[in-house]
Amino acid sequence: MIIPDQLLDGYRQFKDAHLAEQGALYRRLAQGQTPGVMMIACADSRVDPATIFNAGPGELFVVRNVANLVPPYEPGGGYHGTSAAIEFAVEHLKVQDIVIMGHGQCGGIAASLSERPVGQFIAPWVDMISDARDAVLADNRDADTATLQKALEFAAIGHSLQNLHSFPFVQAAIDTGRVRLHGAWFAIASGELCWLSQSGQFEKIS
Ligand SMILES: [Zn+2]
Repeated sequence: MIIPDQLLDGYRQFKDAHLAEQGALYRRLAQGQTPGVMMIACADSRVDPATIFNAGPGELFVVRNVANLVPPYEPGGGYHGTSAAIEFAVEHLKVQDIVIMGHGQCGGIAASLSERPVGQFIAPWVDMISDARDAVLADNRDADTATLQKALEFAAIGHSLQNLHSFPFVQAAIDTGRVRLHGAWFAIASGELCWLSQSGQFEKIS
């Protein structure tokens, strides 16, 4: 048996501390989960939703992928991992809120902005936001790299929110007021969290 030391140490600490303390909670959660919030976040190791929102087991239904992107609704074949998670959250878990959480220094967003995104799978994945990228480039002609990066991090969240509307079961849940959509952005260095307002601006949460 080969277990990385980091994981073995971590599991032992979890077992001794959390599991001993929260045994009853885990036994209750074994009966089923009823998270109220779905988070769609980046796979980036620095932006763990449970850590940022101080959430315990059973509280957040999380899907993470490169650059926290929601693909458009595409019925038919294919391995639609993110779409499957959205369907499960909305149709089965009946979450009330879906949050797309982007972040600063996102490698997936940087890949979209690079002349030629590298990666057999990364390039076509981030190609999903090429329209948003082109709009950002057109709107910020003389901007520096950091400005473009942040602008696309924000724009990509908007793009993913739009794509969420393309799923008929998501739109139906929005129409009946059962589900609300949100956009958020986390700054790694400062820990600052911005939330997308009704007016379409990202506003810092005090
Ligand atoms: Zn990222």
